[in-house]
Amino acid sequence: MSASSPKTPYTTNNAGIPVESDEHSLSISPDGPILMQDHYLIEKMAQFNRERVPERVVHAKGAGAYGFFEVTHDVSQFTKADLFQPGRRTDMLARFSTVAGELGSPDTWRDPRGFALKFYTEHGNYDMVGNNTPIFFVRDPMKFQDFIRSQKRHPATGLRNNDMQWDFWTLSPESAHMVTWLMGDRGIPASFRHMNGYSSHTYMWVNGAGERFWVKYHFKTDQGIDYLTQADADEMAGSDGDHHRRDLYESIESGNAPTWSLKVQIMPFEDAADYRFNPFDLTKVWPHGDYPLIDVGRMTLNKNPDNFFIHIEQAAFEPSNLVPGIGPSPDKMLLGRLFSYPDTHRYRIGPNYAQLPPNRARSHVNSYAKDGPMRYEASNAARPYAPNSYGGPAADVDRFGDPAGWAAAGEMVREAYKLHREDDDWGQAGTQVRQVLDDAARDRLVSNVSGHLKQGVSRPVLDRALQYWRNIDKVIGDRIAKKANGG
Ligand code: NDP
Repeated sequence: MSASSPKTPYTTNNAGIPVESDEHSLSISPDGPILMQDHYLIEKMAQFNRERVPERVVHAKGAGAYGFFEVTHDVSQFTKADLFQPGRRTDMLARFSTVAGELGSPDTWRDPRGFALKFYTEHGNYDMVGNNTPIFFVRDPMKFQDFIRSQKRHPATGLRNNDMQWDFWTLSPESAHMVTWLMGDRGIPASFRHMNGYSSHTYMWVNGAGERFWVKYHFKTDQGIDYLTQADADEMAGSDGDHHRRDLYESIESGNAPTWSLKVQIMPFEDAADYRFNPFDLTKVWPHGDYPLIDVGRMTLNKNPDNFFIHIEQAAFEPSNLVPGIGPSPDKMLLGRLFSYPDTHRYRIGPNYAQLPPNRARSHVNSYAKDGPMRYEASNAARPYAPNSYGGPAADVDRFGDPAGWAAAGEMVREAYKLHREDDDWGQAGTQVRQVLDDAARDRLVSNVSGHLKQGVSRPVLDRALQYWRNIDKVIGDRIAKKANGG
């Protein structure tokens, strides 16, 4: 039966020209050579070869959705950022992901989860590129590449390798807090809907009077925290590798829009200097008892993208997208990411990625940037340079020129942050094991860690790993040692 009827649209090539056949290439005879003049065949083959963009080096496997953020409590005393003003509702895009797995990897591997948000504010895009953990494995961007390579595949075998993971972790004691988290229940969330999101980094907020504060964001899931055991996650990895992607899509599609409540911790600017922990160290939290959570608003994800590749694969989040009222902090990992995120987008999806549908600002873009591959919207500037005498945009220093910085002076050094009173690597990890986990959660932690250590970890690395856990907590370390050594 012919596929065409008066109601069926006719196939065209990419230039809109009707094609002669969907099925047969042009040849001299039915079994003869095909002809180079069959431009449509050549276009199809060439287009197919270019269907992929490079997958993200980290956070390759994910899912996302559009939604909105509503302010429910007045925090204007802390920030003048448009999206956090009372009564404001801002459209947004979210993308959740695993970290180390490739684009086709199972969603239920033990791994932190990315929690990346883009808010389309009145003053341009504000991105929060967080995780489902309030902390991270390293505190200096010099170590990030090494850390990720240790979690990915072995250069000789092409296989994931627990020896590399524990080798790096045990030689980097600042990882202890995050590894404790990863090996606990929250290391495998039940779904993207059942996990919290944290800025992890500390940022600066600036209010209308120019006063500065340090801030950490906590997006708490309104669906409740839930997790998968190692056994359930392993089984799911074999039966439905897209479990979390499917769950998010189907939940939204069925009208069950997930929500998260945003709370923040606010630290007065002056407290940072002699707080007991370095407040800019990404391996540490600010205990809630020191800086309690303050309500801000609610995020709702209620719209699936109509095309996954366009809206999610090409979504580009970058912590450098900071709007007036929000600035960076001296967190070295954050400062490194301000460069690396936009840089990876330029490589992965091209220098004009900000014009793609998920990334384009919904406010005016009056940039002087011009030209380059795939550009399809001209700059608003009549002349491509500033200043100019033809009405080109000019920076409004009085309105947006934030003093969003901090004083810094001294010799150039390559050192860890200056020591605050409780800046050791084991303390907060030990607190988590002893005070946050209950007996059953501690049992699962012992089982998860010992099970992991039994899979291909060489003797010297294993010995270091057991000492690492004893440094976190002697009791838990001894229990892990007993099980990992076959007890
Ligand atoms: P609190 O007792 O005030 O907070 C403990 C927090 O731990 C909870 O609020 C919860 O965070 C989180 N938590 C609960 N169960 C687990 C679990 N199984 N695995 C991981 N986290 C869990 O204590 P502190 O603020 O003094 O922090 C103590 C420890 O709690 C920290 O060392 C850190 O490991 C962990 N933690 C602290 C957070 C913070 O920002 N202070 C945030 C999250 C964890 P939530 O409500 O965000 O789910």
